[in-house]
Amino acid sequence: MTPLPPLLSNSLDALSDPVILIDGRKTILFFNKAAGLAWPSLVIGMPLSFTLRAPDLVEALDHVIASQDGERDGVFSERHPVERDFSFRVRNVQESEPYLSRTAPAALVILRDLTEARRLESMRVDFVANASHELRTPLASLIGFIETLQGPAREDPKAQARFLSIMREQGRRMARLIDDLLSLSRVEMSEHRRPIDLVDMTSVIQQSVDTLRPTASARGVTLEIIAPNEPCPLPGDRDELLRVVENLVENGIKYGQSGGRVEIDLKPVGVDPTDDMALSVRDFGEGIAPEHLPRLTERFYRVDASASRESGGTGLGLAIVKHIVNRHRGRLVIESEKGQGSVFRVLLPRTTSSA
Ligand code: ADP
Repeated sequence: MTPLPPLLSNSLDALSDPVILIDGRKTILFFNKAAGLAWPSLVIGMPLSFTLRAPDLVEALDHVIASQDGERDGVFSERHPVERDFSFRVRNVQESEPYLSRTAPAALVILRDLTEARRLESMRVDFVANASHELRTPLASLIGFIETLQGPAREDPKAQARFLSIMREQGRRMARLIDDLLSLSRVEMSEHRRPIDLVDMTSVIQQSVDTLRPTASARGVTLEIIAPNEPCPLPGDRDELLRVVENLVENGIKYGQSGGRVEIDLKPVGVDPTDDMALSVRDFGEGIAPEHLPRLTERFYRVDASASRESGGTGLGLAIVKHIVNRHRGRLVIESEKGQGSVFRVLLPRTTSSA
């Protein structure tokens, strides 16, 4: 039985943050729906501390109830059943005149789940640390070579030529990283706006493959388009879709080199003309162990960091692909088996009805 009038308890139920009403003995008089969802073991009439084992919260309650005024804020973390962080605010709600009984409402506990905000904050901190590290490494090498050219190699034209070509490569690496960082932030900013122009996916594939053929043949890899050569219009951003195909095919060339072949296919997932189109890029190389698959689209996540850097990778390609695919309201599915190669499949809607 809640001691609250229905209008009040319904209003508290409508809040997305957990709210719990406590009496003077620190037992629960009412909790709203959000609190029940966050802590299914809450029971009216039981002490709050049976469920929320947070010493700072209990102390705040003691203080607010005993002093009959004011409010206290704080934070606490839970480790079981999952790690969660909360902030709390305890407000005195006792009727000061007259003070009725220890079973009357005494304090309102308002909670907020900080888990997602903290996760995003730690991702942001990691991202800045990773990006700085990726830029600092080539920068340190550039500075080192400049100092060598100014000092010990000043009179050595052979060493100069060699160092300058390494410096050019390091400079290019920094430029690639900055380009990728800018692309990523541009796509993220526009992710909520789905593209509406019609783009011919067949010609996007053709153009990407034409661009990458020289890179592929330099590595002894053949690119095969097995999609039918007829136009396939779908709502999209041409430059972004080119980027998707190029990133996937380039990865197929780089990491699937040993298989000697990359296949690019485009076909509907079903027979209905409104069914999504599936773009598949398949390589026959080393493949990827299953534990890596869920993390491949994280920024800077690489299975083998030095192999990626050696082949000019920034660790951002698949993160960019994922955001572009999200913007197109599509899906990226990665399947791979160690030693068998990998398939990167992008499902793209052909209609704008689900925008
Ligand atoms: P990178 O710039 O390192 O290529 P990506 O975001 O494109 O960054 O890819 C992330 C990682 O995923 C790569 O470093 C590589 O370890 C792995 N990967 C991507 N594509 C393939 C593939 N076709 N075969 C095997 N591993 C791949």
